[in-house]
Amino acid sequence: MDIVGNVLPQVLKDEATEDKGEMARLQSFVGAIAVADLVKTTLGPKGMDKILKPTGPGQEMTHITVTNDGATILKSMYVENPAAKILIEISKTQDEEVGDGTTTVAVLAGELLREGEKLIQKRIHPQHVIAGWRIARDVALKRLRDISSENDINSQEFHDDLVKIARTTLSSKLITSDRDYFADLCVNAVLRLKGSSNLDYIQIIKLPGGTIRDSYLDDGFILKKQITIGCKRRIENAKILVANTAMDYDKIKIYGTKVKVNSMDKVAEIEAAEKEKMKHKVDKILKYQPTVFVNRQLIYNYPEQLLADSGITVIEHADFEGMERVAAATGAEILSTFDAPERAAQVLGHCDLIEEIMIGEEKMIKFSGCKKNEACTIVLRGASTHILDEVDRSIHDALCVLITTVKNKRVVWGGGNSEMQMAAACEEEAKKVQGKQAFAIEAFARALRQIPTIICDNGGYDSAELIQNFKVELQKGNQNCGLNMTDGTIGSMSELGVKECLRVKEQALMAASEAAELIMRVDDIVKCAPRKRERA
Ligand code: ADP
Ligand code: MG
Repeated sequence: MDIVGNVLPQVLKDEATEDKGEMARLQSFVGAIAVADLVKTTLGPKGMDKILKPTGPGQEMTHITVTNDGATILKSMYVENPAAKILIEISKTQDEEVGDGTTTVAVLAGELLREGEKLIQKRIHPQHVIAGWRIARDVALKRLRDISSENDINSQEFHDDLVKIARTTLSSKLITSDRDYFADLCVNAVLRLKGSSNLDYIQIIKLPGGTIRDSYLDDGFILKKQITIGCKRRIENAKILVANTAMDYDKIKIYGTKVKVNSMDKVAEIEAAEKEKMKHKVDKILKYQPTVFVNRQLIYNYPEQLLADSGITVIEHADFEGMERVAAATGAEILSTFDAPERAAQVLGHCDLIEEIMIGEEKMIKFSGCKKNEACTIVLRGASTHILDEVDRSIHDALCVLITTVKNKRVVWGGGNSEMQMAAACEEEAKKVQGKQAFAIEAFARALRQIPTIICDNGGYDSAELIQNFKVELQKGNQNCGLNMTDGTIGSMSELGVKECLRVKEQALMAASEAAELIMRVDDIVKCAPRKRERA
């Protein structure tokens, strides 16, 4: 090949660039660590909140978000660095999979990479680092499972555990002061699901006004809609037809339609034909013999009148989510054609009572005693929409974690206990491993220990001292010790009632180590411009 001096022949096109080896790795480390450092200060019960504010033209007045939730912060960030994107991605996945630990996972991955960077500077090859991390991860996972405990699902202990887990999840959120209240509320909501893992049955309604203490759990399902005028407001033993169909053309729609006629009579004729079509459709619906008709779309006066005259209560223009939930809770199918009235028994939903209720100043429709008797609604009140949104996110986190716990049943102590135990396991292992991998295993232990360290730092406590004391307590065999974040000491987690779901920790450990490994493997970043469309 013809290489002149140091100049390589150009392989990539003009707009594409490439970063190689050290440079590429450095870029990844910098990006990932920066992202981790950004959310670091929100970790733990004394973590700080962040305000997210959209910028750009026309965005100044839009909604700001005040949050402590790692996933929410990371999701709203727009980054260019590929490694940073990977971290954001794992935090999102953590949120979707288990609902909590979203900050932990990003911080842990960041800390692993920080340690990884030091190892590389010591001239340890990335492959050795990765090999060591893998050993460390398996050891940590094994220890994590060993220290977890399981209770019978119907026992009082399990119920208490759930409350404690909910409290731990909520403790870093805006509603810290009311966490006992909300922990009970969330546990009751999840227990109503009777083991089902469909969060759709728990509906959250946010109504500005009052204080967050005015929030409550209501059984049954609440739809943010009003019953159409002229219909019955209270229906017992309702048979519900849920539909997504057009019921809005009893008049000619003028927009975009061109009809040429030579007299007004003709217009009337067309209108009559449209009406006839509508009547036909209503007749088909009536064959199902529902007592309540819920439609996703608007219902115009004429069909509404027809339905109301037949004694059917009409709810129109329900939002899509609401409608899906009505269908799920009452066991209905969403119909868009009405040609099989013989299937009425299967497709109609049932509930004991539908009535109009007032929450705050708003009228809503409540479905109680639903066929799938699992649905319930959490009504959130609060002084402003920002508070309500954050409470909503916190409650959602707690519900997700509780559902995961009900499925998985295993719990571990919180307050940094599990991370310290895992770190100890890694250090024990490092003593047995020969070769350079041992350094990587020790590094893994240090990264794990950073989690309680950061929790301490965020509370303004002396982390160096506390973590050392923590180590000693564990060494003494004090299995349930952990960070007491009110006094800044090492306390008993069973007395403080700080528990966490095993799945959350497992998922965080796995995802963080996988992401760190992925980023560690990088030795080349190619930025490519999108392919241009060829001119024909
Ligand atoms: P994440 O988004 O990762 O869940 P959090 O800000 O919720 O982050 O912090 C979770 C960490 O805080 C966990 O490691 C948990 O053990 C710890 N933690 C939560 N509540 C307490 C508490 N009351 N005392 C000590 N540690 C706590
Ligand atoms: Mg949390």
